[in-house]
Formats: sequence, structure tokens, C-alpha cells
Amino acid sequence: MISRILLIMLLAVSTQAKVNIVASLTDLADIARQVGGKHVSVVSIARGSQDPHYVEVLPSSMMKVKRADMYLMVGMELDQWAEQIIDGSRNRQLRIVDCSSDIERVNVPTRKVDASMGDIHPNGNPHYWLDPENGKVIARTIASNLKVVDPRHTEEYDNNLKVFIDSIDELEAHWAMTYSSLNGKSVIYYHDTWPYFNRYFGLTATAFIEPKPGIMPTPTHLDHLIHIINDQHIKVIAMEPYFSQQAPAFLSGKTGATIVHMAQSVGAEENTETYQKMLTYNLEVLMKALNSQ
Ligand SMILES: [Zn+2]
Repeated sequence: MISRILLIMLLAVSTQAKVNIVASLTDLADIARQVGGKHVSVVSIARGSQDPHYVEVLPSSMMKVKRADMYLMVGMELDQWAEQIIDGSRNRQLRIVDCSSDIERVNVPTRKVDASMGDIHPNGNPHYWLDPENGKVIARTIASNLKVVDPRHTEEYDNNLKVFIDSIDELEAHWAMTYSSLNGKSVIYYHDTWPYFNRYFGLTATAFIEPKPGIMPTPTHLDHLIHIINDQHIKVIAMEPYFSQQAPAFLSGKTGATIVHMAQSVGAEENTETYQKMLTYNLEVLMKALNSQ
């Protein structure tokens, strides 16, 4: 009888043993899944196809966080909505991890930010996960926090981290061979999502469809973009899937530039269901569009 009770208790412990993680974005969730392996259960608040700047604060999200052990934030003021979700969850045991803590930030404004600059990020551009080197930094941050929350599985977290970093190293070697022709190319982007991606892969953002971050394009701005595209022979207009096709289609019609849908997050497009696949997908669509003309 006693052994039976013990067995039931042991079973209860082992089913509870997974570290319950909630992440703001699918990218952090996927990296956490890879680093945590079988010892974590992970959900993300935003879907991959969603604009990460504007996510509705829902009671159902607060309920998810209420049961969580760890919350993974993007930080750098991208996911301020997460702070409301965390507050609303009233989970005092929650470990809040800012995944930007060890990131080297780019485009930190040198002058004081005000409303005239649009919806600008005052602590620098927060789309850092799109540089594979930063993927490794995120994975290290998640692993070190997992080891604090669940020290019994330290060795496995270290192993999983190594497997993740090795997989990125391998891909980096492959990308350098396969996509070297992207180096030096210029692209018009919809939003300033890609400075980390561009820096790593040698691309240039010549202009943005948004005249300022978070601001809708005006006819004057679109006119200005037509001149830029023609004068500088820009071949590709890249957009995140959550924006309206209207302005890119207008520009493409006037100039012949190809529209490319890029995946700003894991799951934003088909074949982007892991962090690694998402990066490869973006390189592939850019390469196809740049070579098709
Ligand atoms: Zn942004």
C-alpha cells in the first residue's frame, strides 16, 4: 500500500517536473524548446504572423502566465504589452527573463526621442533575434536561467545548448557558401525589422515604406520611394506578412521591383517552423527575388 502511494506521488512529481515557459514571441519559444528539450513546456503569446509591436493583452494570456515558471521577454521596449500580461497574471513566483540583456544593441538613438520621430524604439532596434549570432546569445541566456530554475537537469541543458549552437555554426558555414551573392545588395523594407539581419548577411536597407517606424506611408513618401528604386536600381521590396500589400503593390507596379514576404518570426510563413528554418527561408526568398531579374 505504502509503495503504491509512493508510486503515485512519484508520478505526480514527474508530470509536474516540466518547466513551464511562456515567451512573448515564437522565436524565443522555439529557442527555449530546443534548449529545454523534454524538460520544458513552452507557449508563445504572439503568433508568428502577428505584428510583434502590437499584441492584444488578453485574460487568456494572463492565465497562461499565472501557471508559468518563466517568462521570456524580447525587451528593448518591443513587447511592453508583455508587462501588462505579467502584471495581470499576479504570479509572484514568475522568473522574468529579458532576452536582450546580453545583446549588443544597434541603432540606439543619439538624440532624445520624441513623438515626431514616429514609433521609434528609444533603447535601440529590438529586432535582434534576426542575427544568427544573437540566436546563440538568446540560447545562452535561456540556458543559464533554466539551470537556476531546474538545476537537476543542468547537464542536459548544457548539452542541448551545445547542439543548438553547433546547428547554427553549421548553418552559418552553409549560408556563407550558398547565399554569398546577397552580400552588398540593397533592399527596400516595409519596417525597420532587419538591421541585425542585414549586418550579419551584408545587406543594406536603402529605405523603408514606413516614412517613420509605425507610420503609414503617404503619397509624397511613395513618390520619393519610386525615385529611389529607379535611381538606385533596387530590385526587391521586402515586407512583413502582417502589413497591407497596398503600398508594396503600388511601388512594384510603378517600378517592376519584386515583392518578397519575409518571415520576421518563426511561423510567419510556411517552412519557418524553427528558428533555423526561418533564417534560411528569408535568405532563400531574397536570393530568388534578386536573381529573378
Ligand atoms: Zn520595430
